[in-house]
Amino acid sequence: MKRDNNRLSGHYRAMYKLIYESGKISKQDIAMKMNLSLPTVTQTLHQLMEDEQIVTDGKFTSSVGRRAVVYSPNNERAYAVGLELFANHVTATLVNVLYEDLGSTTINLPFKIEEGYFQQLGDWVREFISAQSISLDKVVGVGIGIQGLISADGKKVLYGKILNCTGLTSSQFERAIGIPVTLFHDADCVALAEQNQSHNQEDAIYLSIGEHLGTAIVINNQIYTGEKGRSGTMEHITLNSKTGHKCYCGRRGCLETYSSLSALLRENETIEGFMDHLKQKDQETVQRWRDYLTNLAEVINNLHMFTDNRLVIAGVLARYLDDGAIEFINKRIKSITAFPEDQPYVERGTAQSRPVSFGATLPIIKSVLDNI
Ligand SMILES: [Zn+2]
Repeated sequence: MKRDNNRLSGHYRAMYKLIYESGKISKQDIAMKMNLSLPTVTQTLHQLMEDEQIVTDGKFTSSVGRRAVVYSPNNERAYAVGLELFANHVTATLVNVLYEDLGSTTINLPFKIEEGYFQQLGDWVREFISAQSISLDKVVGVGIGIQGLISADGKKVLYGKILNCTGLTSSQFERAIGIPVTLFHDADCVALAEQNQSHNQEDAIYLSIGEHLGTAIVINNQIYTGEKGRSGTMEHITLNSKTGHKCYCGRRGCLETYSSLSALLRENETIEGFMDHLKQKDQETVQRWRDYLTNLAEVINNLHMFTDNRLVIAGVLARYLDDGAIEFINKRIKSITAFPEDQPYVERGTAQSRPVSFGATLPIIKSVLDNI
């Protein structure tokens, strides 16, 4: 709860920010860095403590004089839960106000738009939070990453062909979970998770490669959504509409059908199984991998043409791309592109294991911090 004393409220926020960014800091250092008198610092610290924004965390070690008290951000002040919905299961991740991943869990729960599904999901989410000994009122929001396009206010699925959930709303989840819910495009969650991990906020295209291909464009540190939230769906750019493979969107030959894992793997084949065969140098698998990377290079070259930014390969595939694969892609791009570049622009994602459920918490935590 922010105080309405104008003289202090400016310091309040700035002091919280300094403590948050420092992790551990003494009163004396705060006074010095903010150029404030010790009594002013003491008073603002007192308010921050009273509002449970910060905690004292022991004392600094010092060989001379009194040892100073350590002030730290209160990492138990607020939490967010992120969910990723799949056709047959759901993954949940819990994150605190320091953007720390406190753990994940998965439930086998086939997606259905019916009351029983939402109830079961709600019960499971609340149990997951309780199991971490966190009270529900400390969880300020649930972010849900969905394989589909979402309205700008995060309340409605505009296009959800993969889960057949067009028209689904956040309130359907909210009623069952009992915590405010925001929906996000899953590829946007991956882009946010990657940015958080790499601390690189330069403009980029993020290719999230999992069962399906998802794409997001980040410009000026913002996900570019376009006027109606339909931007960054490069997966349905069509390369071969006549004889290409069928895409779930109804067309043929979309980028999705060249560079998603569904395009790489056979029915019932897992990426782990595929990679095992690749390691054993199984000839057919090696050839299939080369063909796939060749297509991926084609896709990347096309996308890079109209943004001229770095391009990050993220999502499940990123964990399996070794240096050899990246080199293969870079060489291929160099040989096909109309504008060869000296420096390669393809980057490998930081290979976080659950980027969608983690990324779905980030805007929620950010809004908590923005509102202090
Ligand atoms: Zn398509």
